[in-house]
Amino acid sequence: MTKVLSELLGSSGGQPRTPGHLPHGLAVEVARSVIDDARARVEGGESVTEEAVLGDARRRAADIGRSLLQPVVNATGVIVHTNLGRAPLGPAALAAVGEVASGYSNLEFRLDRGTRGSRHEHAGSLLARACGAEAAMVVNNNAAAVMLVLAALARGREVIVSRGELVEIGGGFRVPDVMAESGARLVEVGTTNRTRRADYERAMSAETAMILRVHASNYRMVGFVESAPVESLAGLGPPVVVDIGSGLLDESTPWLAERPAWLQDEPGARQCLEAGAALVTFSGDKLLGGPQAGVIAGRADLVATVARHPLARAVRADKMALAALQSVAFAYLANDGDAIPLWRMAATPVSALRERAEAVAAAVPSAKVVDTEAVAGGGSLPGLTIPSCGVSIEVSDADAALGALRSAGIVARVDAGAMICDLRTVDPSDDTRLAAALATITR
Ligand SMILES: *Cc1c(COP(=O)(O)O)cnc(C)c1O
Repeated sequence: MTKVLSELLGSSGGQPRTPGHLPHGLAVEVARSVIDDARARVEGGESVTEEAVLGDARRRAADIGRSLLQPVVNATGVIVHTNLGRAPLGPAALAAVGEVASGYSNLEFRLDRGTRGSRHEHAGSLLARACGAEAAMVVNNNAAAVMLVLAALARGREVIVSRGELVEIGGGFRVPDVMAESGARLVEVGTTNRTRRADYERAMSAETAMILRVHASNYRMVGFVESAPVESLAGLGPPVVVDIGSGLLDESTPWLAERPAWLQDEPGARQCLEAGAALVTFSGDKLLGGPQAGVIAGRADLVATVARHPLARAVRADKMALAALQSVAFAYLANDGDAIPLWRMAATPVSALRERAEAVAAAVPSAKVVDTEAVAGGGSLPGLTIPSCGVSIEVSDADAALGALRSAGIVARVDAGAMICDLRTVDPSDDTRLAAALATITR
């Protein structure tokens, strides 16, 4: 028991960047289970060596280490990778989180008057300014934002949605289900591929609470398709709410030196509001490049109504997300795309990635520099790729190679028998770590 215990207490299971060893209580529990298993095997007639028992203990410690929430290197080329935590935060946003969360803050307190304040006064009002909205509020995520808007503005009444937009976004966010949960009644109009203004107009009644447009995000319809632009719906009467999903604040990307071609017709919050949308909703951690959050921006009277709804309390954002978002909003207001890691990664010239790929490949026998295609991910821009560069290594057993890389905390992908590490999503400070791991597995 003592030996097994010291194995567990002293071992991090070879995992980088995880706590050095298991807490004592957990180690005792695991040690007991390791010894019980060994005893059962001995009683079953097997011979069990001490080394095998210690090996079992090490394996379990490693399993626990791998299950802990920890940083990984994203070499997949998917910039907003939902399984890998979506958008990374930059130093300023992280510092803001640290400052606000390590002590007390004016989260719901007005420093000017000494009275109770609202958590929507900080990041919310800055984000509103950044996208040209009268007001904005922040909730836990965009799914909650949509649900809350529907519940607060349309419960018991009708919401008109195009049949082409009754989509599933992934992770179980299905527009008809969200609608049902919110208590609003769905009125479907148009067809899967074509919906016109007249379809919405015909469906309007005294019961209509809103027109909802949902960005199809993770799929794309091509060919004989038509949808009614927000401009054409705004004059119909009911408020038009647009779930744009990705959180592109402004289609003209003034925070970048050059507008990326791959953004194509991704809808921007500012443009939807200018076109007459009463509200837009979007995620904080997709193309906005911030923490997990959902933003509701638009008409001040509607934002106020939504904020008063009881559900708002259940889906409110926490101070850490609000601190990070405030910092991200500042970066947008300063047109400083460099301060937002997502945009820095997205806008890195391929030539810079190639230079880094050459350095990585030089340190890894059998690695080749290859042109790759990165993607925005997170449901934005399906089918559109971002020219990128990385390294490729021919491997005989792709699954084993990917597994070995994962043990080193690196997630890559396999394409046609070769393992590909796309450098667009790798922080340059991780290049040496990536090269070292690749060199180890190809030895
Ligand atoms: C991603 C997405 C959502 C869900 O947003 P979360 O922040 O993941 O809750 C909802 N609607 C659209 C259109 C999306 O793209």
